[in-house]
Amino acid sequence: GFKCGIVGLPNVGKSTLFNALTKAGIEASNFPFCTIEPNTGVVPVPDPRLEALAEIVKPERVLPTTMEFVDIAGLVAGASKGEGLGNKFLANIRETDAIGHVVRCFEDENIVHVANKVSPASDIEVINTELALADLDSCERAILRQQKRAKGGDKDAKFEVSVLEKMRPVLDEGHMLRSMDLSKEELAAVNYLNFLTLKPTMYIANVAEDGFENNPHLDAVREIAAKENAVVVAVCAAIESELAEMDPEDRDEFMADLGLEEPGLDRVIRAGYQLLDLHTYFTAGVKEVRAWTVPVGACAPQAAGVIHTDFERGFIRAQVMSYDDFIAYKGEAGAKEAGKLRVEGKTYVVKDGDVMHFLFNV
Ligand code: GDP
Repeated sequence: GFKCGIVGLPNVGKSTLFNALTKAGIEASNFPFCTIEPNTGVVPVPDPRLEALAEIVKPERVLPTTMEFVDIAGLVAGASKGEGLGNKFLANIRETDAIGHVVRCFEDENIVHVANKVSPASDIEVINTELALADLDSCERAILRQQKRAKGGDKDAKFEVSVLEKMRPVLDEGHMLRSMDLSKEELAAVNYLNFLTLKPTMYIANVAEDGFENNPHLDAVREIAAKENAVVVAVCAAIESELAEMDPEDRDEFMADLGLEEPGLDRVIRAGYQLLDLHTYFTAGVKEVRAWTVPVGACAPQAAGVIHTDFERGFIRAQVMSYDDFIAYKGEAGAKEAGKLRVEGKTYVVKDGDVMHFLFNV
């Protein structure tokens, strides 16, 4: 699965947000293929297209696709030096595909701030400095290793060293590698190092109930994000936590009162999904209408493999309709009659919203 790690200083609202995410989460028993650990929440990716498909197909059940969020608490200043459990936290972040960095943008005298004042810019700097220092360490070690190989005449190693040498001063200044303009080749050469500051990142600005507009803290986060190719999602963790406790009718009423169209968590989840460069295809049978996740650019066999590895191995071909055609012609039979059902082979690049059916050998 695809994982987004939640990081941030203590007392910024990480647990509040994470608990709301996991409460809004789905029955783990519906997903026999994923193991779920205590600090991991598997959350459904909201997608109104599922309901539209289900209205036509009338299946026994409807299953959204999911994303994993991992709560990585305890990242504090000094983590990169291996103080306390610091290194373990950094290792946990390394295993994620993207980072959601929670930043406190609400004032509340009753809730202690670790630095005694709400200041997103300095909070972000504390965390980002640790990430940059950890990357600097990996970078310098890799330079030493690859320099030896480069001296031996290894061209790939020589290229890698040139990329790493470009990265070193950026990290040394405490800046994020994702703010650099790197070519595909350069990124590929260092991909194996799993740099933390290269991971796609969203800042989750935890604002007060009335803090979505005219909030200088939020503006400060936006300014930082713009400089380093990150995105910003503003939520109020306190509200999300209340929403997650409510049953659906109360929730709708509460949101209407607040003038919210959807829970803020939906925006966090969707932003995470986009951050990871993922999109969705559907299977639509009478037993089950279901959304599945593939990386943008994935071909049909890889998409089949998300359902089961055997489907990928034995892939023969796929029947494909677009979501729009499926809806317009009221299902597969109608789409087929209208000539909108295509047969696609191994090289077909899956599009967002494709409704697919796979034929395979076992
Ligand atoms: P963590 O240490 O980052 O996991 O932070 P917590 O989620 O434990 O939150 C720390 C404290 O801030 C708790 O007392 C929360 O109830 C409170 N808190 C979290 N989010 C909000 C918020 O949006 N508004 C206000 N006023 N308090 C919040």
